[in-house]
Amino acid sequence: MGSQKHITNNKTTFSRQSLKAAQMAIKDAAKGMGTTDDVGSNAKAHFVFIPLMFQGHLIPAVDTALLLATHGALASIVVTPSNTGRIRPTIDFARKSGLPVRLVELALDCAAEGLPDGADDVDKVPSCLWTNYFRAVALLREPLERHLRAHEPYPTCVVSDFCHPWAKELAASFEVPRLCFFSMCSFCLLCQHNVERFNAYDGVDDDNELVIVPGLEKRFEVSRAQAPGFFRGFPGFEKLADDVEQALVEADGIVTNSFLEMEPEYVAGYAEARGMKVWTVGPVSLFHNRTVTLASRGNTAAIGADECLRWLDSKEPNSVVYVSFGSIAHAEPNQVVELGLGLEASGHPFIWVVKNADQHGDEVSEFLHELEAHVAGRGLLIRGWAPQVLILSHAAVGGFVTHCGWNSTMEAITAGLPVVTWPHFSDQFLNAKFAVEVLGIGVSIGVTEPVMYRVDQKEIVVRREVVEKAVRSVMDGGGEGEERRMRARALAAQARSAVEEGGSSHANLLDLIKNFEVDAGCDATA
Ligand code: UDP
Repeated sequence: MGSQKHITNNKTTFSRQSLKAAQMAIKDAAKGMGTTDDVGSNAKAHFVFIPLMFQGHLIPAVDTALLLATHGALASIVVTPSNTGRIRPTIDFARKSGLPVRLVELALDCAAEGLPDGADDVDKVPSCLWTNYFRAVALLREPLERHLRAHEPYPTCVVSDFCHPWAKELAASFEVPRLCFFSMCSFCLLCQHNVERFNAYDGVDDDNELVIVPGLEKRFEVSRAQAPGFFRGFPGFEKLADDVEQALVEADGIVTNSFLEMEPEYVAGYAEARGMKVWTVGPVSLFHNRTVTLASRGNTAAIGADECLRWLDSKEPNSVVYVSFGSIAHAEPNQVVELGLGLEASGHPFIWVVKNADQHGDEVSEFLHELEAHVAGRGLLIRGWAPQVLILSHAAVGGFVTHCGWNSTMEAITAGLPVVTWPHFSDQFLNAKFAVEVLGIGVSIGVTEPVMYRVDQKEIVVRREVVEKAVRSVMDGGGEGEERRMRARALAAQARSAVEEGGSSHANLLDLIKNFEVDAGCDATA
């Protein structure tokens, strides 16, 4: 195919002619190869979503794809076999409701990169083989390209997780635009970008020394340990980190699970800093407005929706605190005990999601059983996957102790809940800062250093008294607490308006389709 792209400032202007010609070419190529799935074959926009297969990336990417499908675009979602089951109920429900969505299941060649069988499930990747995992994921490019060439209609846009720099070559081979998907807020993205582009850590030897985030009107402090940059600071990831940045620089735009009204200055600031458009389309969890999909969003829950709702129905409004550290972070055994005792002492009803409960040893196991007996009726332990958004949207829930993964933070905001911020690693420190210092809906638990992926593992980082105090502070009224809750509720109202017709996220979804449909003369420059 001859190139018909016009490159301006590294951004691509896609002409109607080039997309149409490409579409014709692929139709010819696909003839005789057979298609297994003709759902959405007449759609004018075809977004190919390539999520990173961690739940915190996969879940919001699927929701975003489905939101685009609700507006008539065909959404194909690339998934590896171990992850199919996690999203299948949602996809099946969407397809039964008539949404044009396809699953593209591709096997990960684990053996080629020395990974054990089944390691396309990230829970099964040995910690010493993470670089191998990312190399194996990059091998998906070829089979994916073959699949897309054999199944019409032609993709009109590739939306890939920012962790997949190889999607650049894929989109280029089809001569279609490529957007980077982030389930992150623009505040976090801009802070991270600014500390890097203004070399804020230069000359700073101590990873925990705070520096001021440059280039922002308001003063925020961050340390290298809290915001090292994507894949930075991990030996062996240097090339991936550089490739991720380069792929971002060359992207045709950014899609985020956030909404404009929550952080207008940071959305504008990040778009300007990157020189590309940022489409905020969140909160994407609002795609699910039915119990049936909420209950199975992202995985099979360890508790039935009915049981969970019955328990919550028995509680007073705003009385329950929900505690979860997401899909990756987990507390060390002694920290589990301390957290449990703090929750008990808080006097509040609680739902506590205990990840890897069976891996903490007999003592902790016994402790958890005893705790359950002490707090029977007041405390509900979920060992495994919780139907988080279903729980958060129940009127009985009044606060969330969160690790500040962005999805969880966004889901708290969407539910109008104040939060206790307990970041563990990665972007969680910036999200915590955003909740406490920008939005004014959070109480910090006081953790200032990452607790995961470090050699000198600390047994207990937060004492039970601190847990108790933070929970009381978020849950109990009082002037400050009430103001926090009011701010959280106001944000939730804005979040809902954003996704309704006429709202900013709704408009951005339509704009994405308009820009990347086959008849569009697309100029994706900011
Ligand atoms: N989640 C869930 N149940 C669980 C744990 C996590 O539904 O037991 C969902 C949660 O609602 C969120 C995602 O998994 O959508 C986790 O993403 P987040 O960014 O909060 O954290 P991560 O897991 O990436 O650290």
